[in-house]
Amino acid sequence: MAHIVFSPCIGTHDTACMKVCPVNCFYDVPVTELGLEAKADKPDLPNMLIINPDECIDCGLCVPECPVSAITPLDDVPDGEKQYIDINKNWFAGKSTEDLDKYRITP
Ligand code: SF4
Ligand code: SF4
Repeated sequence: MAHIVFSPCIGTHDTACMKVCPVNCFYDVPVTELGLEAKADKPDLPNMLIINPDECIDCGLCVPECPVSAITPLDDVPDGEKQYIDINKNWFAGKSTEDLDKYRITP
């Protein structure tokens, strides 16, 4: 399993989550690379953070840090947000470690 970031992160992106992640598995990705759009009223926040499912250890430390409740265990992703499971998985699929490291965000 893994934890998943979903839509409230778009337009918020304060990075509180990644500051507590013990394995640094958050990646800072332009939402357009995920097939999504930035919020019309927040064009200065074009990215969201997503979690590498192969690296997340499901510790849950990031969940209470998010001010907009945009992180949950995979099994608890709310109805209407479940597309983020595949959006997340598909973005990581086939990327080399070298490619991924360009996006990894650490404190
Ligand atoms: S659940 Fe733990 S390991 Fe997974 S992203 Fe959150 S802080 Fe990192
Ligand atoms: S998931 Fe939450 S805490 Fe992390 S960057 Fe997005 S809005 Fe901020």
